[in-house]
Formats: sequence, C-alpha cells, structure tokens
Amino acid sequence: MTGSFDVVVVGGGPGGYVAAIRAAQLGAKTAIVEKDRLGGTCLVRGCIPTKALLQSSELYTLAKGGAAFGLVADNIAFDFGAAQKRKTAVVDQLVKGVEGLLKAGGVTTLRGTAKLAGNGAVDVAGERVQAKDIVIATGSAVSRIPLKGAEHTIDSDAILELKEIPQRLAVIGGGVVGMEFAAMFAALGSKVTVLEMLPQVLPMVEADLVNLYAKHLSGIGGEIHTSSKVAEVAKAGRALQVRFSTGGEGGAVDADQVLLAVGRSPYTEGLGAEAAGVKLERGRVVVDDHLRTSAAGVWAIGDVIGGIMLAHVASYEGICAIENIAGHARVPDYHAAPNCVYTDPEIAHVGLGEKEAKERGVEVRVGRFPFAASGRALTLGQSEGFAKVVADASSGAVLGVHIIGPRATDLIAEATLAVQNGLTLDQLDLTIHAHPTLPESIMEAALAAQGRAIHIPNRRIQAAAANPASNPSPTSTTAALHNREQQMVTPVKPPTTPVPESITAKKLELKKENRDFLLGIHRMMQLIRRFEERAQEQYTKAKIGGYCHLNIGEEAAVVGGILPLKPNDYIFTSYREHGHAIARGIDPRAVMAELFGKETGTSHGRGGSMHMFGAKLRFMGGYGIVGGHLPLATGGAWAVKFRKQKDVVSCLFGDGATNIGAFHESLNYSKVFDLPVLWYCVNNRYGMGTPVEAASAVKDIYKKACAYDMESIQVDGMNVREVLLRTSEVVEKIRADSQPRFIEALCYRFKGHSVVDPDKYRSNEDKEKWRKADPIVAFEHELEKGGLADEEYFKTVRQEIDSEVQDIIKFADESPDPKVEDLYKYVYCGEWEESPALRGNPL
Ligand code: FAD
Repeated sequence: MTGSFDVVVVGGGPGGYVAAIRAAQLGAKTAIVEKDRLGGTCLVRGCIPTKALLQSSELYTLAKGGAAFGLVADNIAFDFGAAQKRKTAVVDQLVKGVEGLLKAGGVTTLRGTAKLAGNGAVDVAGERVQAKDIVIATGSAVSRIPLKGAEHTIDSDAILELKEIPQRLAVIGGGVVGMEFAAMFAALGSKVTVLEMLPQVLPMVEADLVNLYAKHLSGIGGEIHTSSKVAEVAKAGRALQVRFSTGGEGGAVDADQVLLAVGRSPYTEGLGAEAAGVKLERGRVVVDDHLRTSAAGVWAIGDVIGGIMLAHVASYEGICAIENIAGHARVPDYHAAPNCVYTDPEIAHVGLGEKEAKERGVEVRVGRFPFAASGRALTLGQSEGFAKVVADASSGAVLGVHIIGPRATDLIAEATLAVQNGLTLDQLDLTIHAHPTLPESIMEAALAAQGRAIHIPNRRIQAAAANPASNPSPTSTTAALHNREQQMVTPVKPPTTPVPESITAKKLELKKENRDFLLGIHRMMQLIRRFEERAQEQYTKAKIGGYCHLNIGEEAAVVGGILPLKPNDYIFTSYREHGHAIARGIDPRAVMAELFGKETGTSHGRGGSMHMFGAKLRFMGGYGIVGGHLPLATGGAWAVKFRKQKDVVSCLFGDGATNIGAFHESLNYSKVFDLPVLWYCVNNRYGMGTPVEAASAVKDIYKKACAYDMESIQVDGMNVREVLLRTSEVVEKIRADSQPRFIEALCYRFKGHSVVDPDKYRSNEDKEKWRKADPIVAFEHELEKGGLADEEYFKTVRQEIDSEVQDIIKFADESPDPKVEDLYKYVYCGEWEESPALRGNPL
C-alpha cells in the first residue's frame, strides 16, 4: 500500500469524500483513508438514515389522514422493522455510490485508521504513505456529559438501531438531532418528552418558528420542558425515570428509552494530530481562514474544526481547502449557510434573523406569508406554518429567510441563493415563480415586506385605507391626488451640489475647501446610478412603457458634461437620458413619474418614457430617433444668436448619432453660421449592437468634427474631474466667441437600453478594462486619497440614496394618471393660441 500522493484525505464523510473527488478533478494524485464505512456520519449514522426513517413516519402520518384525500385503507399500522430495512437499503446504496464515485474519479481508497506521522507522512494499517498535502476530515462523535445514570441512555447512533418503537421516549437535549428524533417518534405514536436546559429548544431558530413547532408537537401529545436541567436517569422497575428541575422545582418523566442528544464533539482519536504539529483547541483542529492547520501542508475541514457542524458545510469546506491547495485562494464564506430541521412541519433558515439583524443595528423590513394562503400547500393538505423574509430596510437586500412548513428544507434553496448573492426583495419578486408551487410563498413574503403581497391583505396599506386622515404622509395616494402641484416643486432632497461660479482646476483640487462641491458631485453620480438601476427594475415590472434607456457607467460623462453649463444655457438631448435631466436639476421624482406616464411627470405623463422636458431649466429631452435632436439644437443655437444672447446650447448625443446625415449637416451648419453650440458626444461604446468605432472608417469620433474645421477634443469620460474641467473651458470659449466646438467623452455604458445586454457585443478584455474604470469607484478612490471621505461615508451615501430612490419610486407609483378628459392638454397647439406669453417676440 505504500506510495506517495499529492493529496491524502483522512476521513470519508461528506467533507472528506467531496474533497477527494475535487482534488482528483484538479489533477492531483489523491488517496482517501477511512476506518469505517465511506460516507461518514452523514450517510451511515446521521443525515441519511434519519431522513429515511422520517420519510416513513411522514408517510404514516399522511396515510392516517388519507381518508380526506379519498384514500381508502383500513387498519393502517406501522411496521418499524420494514422502515428500518428500507433505511438500511438507502444507506447501503449511497455508501456504494460514494465508493463508485471515488473509484470513477481515480481516487485511491485506503482502509484503516490514519495516523499523522509528520512531514507529510500518514500511517495506515501499519503502512506509510507520503503526501504533499493532507486534509483532516475526521468529523465528530456523540458528546458525552457527566450525567448520573448516563449508562441507561442511548445516543443518536443507537436509537437508529432500535428494534421497536418505544412507548415513551424522553429526549435530553432540544437541539436539531434531539428534535428530529422527537418528531419522528411522536409521529409514530411514542409519548415524547423533550428536556432542554436553555429557555428555548432549537436555540438557533427564530422564536416564532419554534413556538409554532412546539404547538404542533403538543397537538400530537409531545411535551417540551425548557429551562430544565436533568439531574439523573434512574432505573424504575423495567423502565427508566428522568429526574430534572425547572426553575428550582423538581420533576420526573418516566420513559422506556432515554435519548441523550447533547451535541457532537470534534473527533481526532488515534490521529496523532498534536504530535504531528497540528494545534488542537478543546478537541477541535484549529485552522486559519484558508483552512490551514498549524502544520505545514496540513489542512482541516468539516465537523473536526467545529463551527457549523453540518454535512453541506463540510463539503463546501472540502472544496475550499482543495482549491486553496491548488492555488486558487478560497476563503469560506458562511453568511449564507442554510440550516434545516426535519421536524414535521419542517424548519429551515438562512442568513440573519429579525432579532439578530436588529442586534447588529440593521434596520429591517420583514414580510411573512402563511402557507394557509398557498394554493400548493392546501392541495398537499399541509398548510401549517409560514415563510418569513428579512430584508435591509434601506437597500431591500435579503438578509435572511426563515421557513416553517411543508418542504421548508427544499424551499430554503432559493432563499440561500438570494442571501448568498445579496439579491433584493425586488429581484426575488421579479423572478417568475411557477404556480402552484410552495416557492411562491417566498415571493409573496418578499412582496409582503414591501406592503404589496397579492394573496394576503397587506397590513400597512389596509391601515392607511381604513383611516386616511391618520396617514398624512405626503407620498400616500390621497396626498398625491390633492397635493400634486406642490409635490412637483418640492424635490425629495434639494440638489446638494453647490456649483461654483466657474469650474476651474483650482476648484477641482482634492482640498478641504472644495469638499462640499466634490462630495456633491459624487452624490449626484450615485443618485443617477441608483435611479437608473431601479428604473430598469421598474421597466421589467412593466411600470415603464416603451423603452427605458440607462446612463449606468456614464455618470462622469453626464455630470461632467452638464454641470459646467449656466442656468441660462440650453440643453438639447434625447428623451432617453434621465441622468442628464437629474444632473440639470430636474426633480428626479418628476423624471420617474414621467417614465411611469403619470400626471406629475415632466411632461404631465404625456411623454411617458419618450419625452423629458424642463422649460425653466431650459432642458429639452425629446425627439426620440437617434440623432434627431441635433437639427433642433442647431435651430436653438440660431435663436440664441438671433437674440444676441450669450447663452450656450449644449447638444448631447451618443456615438450612434454620429453615423447619420443629420449629424454632419448640423455640425456643418453650426460652423458655417458660427453658432454657439457645444456638440457633446457621450461615446459610451454602445451602438445597440456594433459600436460605432467598429463600423466607421474614422474610429475617433472627435476627428469627425475636425472635418468641419471645428475645435474638437477627446476627454476621459470616466474621470469626472477631467470632464468637468475640459467642458467648462470649452463652454466658456463658446460663450466668448460664438463658435461651435466638439467634445467626445469616452466612457462605457455598463447596461444596455431597457434589458438589452450590450456585453454580448464586447470582448472580454474590453469589458474588464472598462469595468475596472467604473467612474464612481474611481472618483471614490480619489476622494479617499485626498482625505475628503472614507468608505464609511460612501456607505452612508449609498444607503441614503437607496431610500431616496425608493421614495422617488413610491411618489411615481402613487401619483395620479392623467385624467382622460385632459388627455390632449399640453399636447396640441390650441394652447399656444391661448397663451400669447409663449409666443415670444415676433421675428
Ligand atoms: P463525518 O461525516 O463524521 O466523517 C468523518 C469520517 O472520518 C468518518 O467516516 C470516520 O469513520 C472517519 N475517521 C475518523 N477518524 C479517522 C481516522 N483517523 N482514520 C480514518 N478515518 C477516520 N447534517 C446535515 O447537514 N443535515 C442533516 O440532516 C444532518 N442530520 C444529522 C443527523 C444526525 C443523527 C447526526 C448525528 C448528524 C447529522 N448531521 C446532519 C451532521 C452531519 O452528519 C455532519 O455534519 C457531517 O457528517 C460531518 O461531515 P465530516 O465529513 O466532517 O465528518
């Protein structure tokens, strides 16, 4: 058996065998050592045999209630021997499966107890093997406590081998193992009593779920004594008696079997760990965050390192350790490790609980959905319980999900994906859930957290409807109807960017005296980003019609291109650019309301997603067809020149517009007639397919302007300070000599229009290069380096903006639709006739 391996894994449980298979996949010559059966505690004495028996007890319970489903069966009885036989068959099949997998994967299996001999040597059954790396995965064993009469008790290994169902079962310890056996035997007819020292059984589970389970157990004759300390287990004739005290008062329970389920302890017996330089701490192998032990080349995973002692965590750690050995740095992240309890009803949870989040100072929103309202749960006849979603109140990120009810242990998978990936409530509820299924309950709980569940009444909304006067919130529907004019002129938060008289290099220095201005710019960029991200979500919810175009990734080019303009200057842009409107100071609520087609929008909802307008701010975001607004800007610049004003017309467009005739005509005309116009191309390299640079003979767009003998520059559109400075200089030159000029701001649109994905058309190098240059992140680095702000500040801004944008959406959502009788108001020129003031001076 002697030999040398790249990796030797000690222990064939779910940690060890998964690690061995992964190591072999990565090309390592791998051996696994197992002293008992492959599969470890999980397959042989834990997860699998218990669940096989629980399936039997569940079936028995269902069959007993089968009459209501039309199942006709007399004298339903339970054959414990048959259930045990099936359990053994399931275990055997899986153990064989693991043996086969290891063989197929090219892993050598060594039988016997492994002892570490130092320097990569491992002794197995009197032979020595050598390994470059060793992974300790020796698991855990049942914990023992110094309890008087403990010899009369059985442990979780022995209870699995019982030949008959005990009439009375006492369970000492209300952890997961204890409660699962309690549930199983209670369902099979045992009189079950659980004794738990702590104030709550299943201490890691939220109290509302545990209370519901305790009620269920008591409904089938079980009893739970919490805060109860067991003093001894004594023989009482042919039976046993468990003596305990609760709050100083003595009690006793008679039982035929007593299960001692007080936990499991890491197992290193016979391993020779410490002699080989592996540090232990109260029996567990000590590891660093990469799962390295104190001995070089020795790693440890699973129950033996303590922490979360679950099979899937052991497997996950196995993968992490092997990938670390292979040189891919993997630090295990446990924040979304799910925990399942196979009681009836089942319990499962992942992430933070309500209480835990509050203790950490996180403000949460909670949504609950009872299975009694789930169509699928009713068809199953299992409608006890609920799903609860806990989310961050400001960002909507799902922090945790807690379920008690049918198949909770399967349902938790979706929740785990959400918590692991930081998905938001919106993203959960925007995912189409098949019907009728139990996972719909998670979606409904996510909706309930936002006060808009469909299949249960929403508490918050009901309260407001019952007594509108009691809810004077300016964003409530009633208030929106009565007060919309006022709301139109009151921004959510006044723009906080104190723009200096003129933007100079000095004003852009990263110095304390410029702090307010620079942080104001940062805030505006963040607002545009979040606004656009949320607008996209609203689009996919069909709240926004037509097309929805996004400035994500262009914030520096947009803010830098617009802030240098004076209040009297004019902006002609395409309707699609919400970021432009926000940077110009248009109330973001009115922008969102316009996208929603609401009366409170910039064009009273007549434009929908096709028209943005702000007369006072001289902002024309209209005319949808690519580049169609360039001739309008030329006309506007003519009007300024005709009136002999010193205003500048800024025309913003994307690179797509530079390929059309109107672009060339407009540039030519503006140059020939010396019009005061800034042609500002946001070259976001997104041409709805082929970027213009790939389709045009002239790759640098600014060079196209040179053809008209126009001063033209290219700027780094990801660098907000550079864009601000260069644009400011160019704008003031135009003001001084009424000559058109051209700026190409090179940037990168991270998201496509609506839900179109521009990434499909981009090379990986391109994507990587530009994403690294994210304009907000880059600016944050600058601010941080200049000592003007830190990560804590940026986090706070993000949170504030998150809630600001939520308010914006709420406002738009609750704003009234245009009245049918007023539908043509603001649309036809009849109004012009009625408003001489709009006509201006005759030519
Ligand atoms: P183990 O599975 O304990 O495997 C360790 C292996 O190492 C064993 O096979 C052992 O024989 C071998 N070994 C030890 N020392 C040596 C040595 N020196 N040389 C060679 N071989 C050695 N977890 C869940 O996730 N879900 C559940 O539903 C669940 N139910 C459970 C029910 C019960 C009753 C119990 C007891 C546990 C349950 N668990 C459950 C926990 C789960 O079984 C463990 O977390 C998991 O098995 C740990 O995996 P591991 O690989 O770290 O160790």
